[in-house]
Amino acid sequence: MLQKTLDGYKGKTKLILENSAGAGEIIGDDLSELSEIIKGTNSKAIAGICLDTQHSFASGYDWRDFKKTLTKIDKEIGLENIKLFHANDSLTECGSNKDRHAHIGEGLIGENAFKNIAAFAKKNEIDMILETKHEKVTKDIELLKSFREK
Ligand SMILES: [Zn+2]
Repeated sequence: MLQKTLDGYKGKTKLILENSAGAGEIIGDDLSELSEIIKGTNSKAIAGICLDTQHSFASGYDWRDFKKTLTKIDKEIGLENIKLFHANDSLTECGSNKDRHAHIGEGLIGENAFKNIAAFAKKNEIDMILETKHEKVTKDIELLKSFREK
């Protein structure tokens, strides 16, 4: 389907695919699936992935063990394919397969993990977008910025 959509596309804009939280029979929560999907198309219009920290956590990627998770991601899709982060903490447990975002540091992923994620993003010049509720999003932005400055 993706191949069909991209066939004949000649624009400069690149597509990135976002990982899912893995609810129901949905595909794309396992990053090796996304890798397979990307490799299965011959389009240069796909730049890589947008890694949603909450969705990956819900799919069993435990950011609290940062090194282990990074190694797993590298093996499954390659760290160079991460083009963007959706930075969201998680209201639900690792492996819950539920898509429930929390403010940074207020969820089960926690502040320490986001310090590591933000440092990794900064080092690799990967932008971060928040998808948390608006009432406290300013605080989330300040926190992430402070983590990136360290
Ligand atoms: Zn997202």
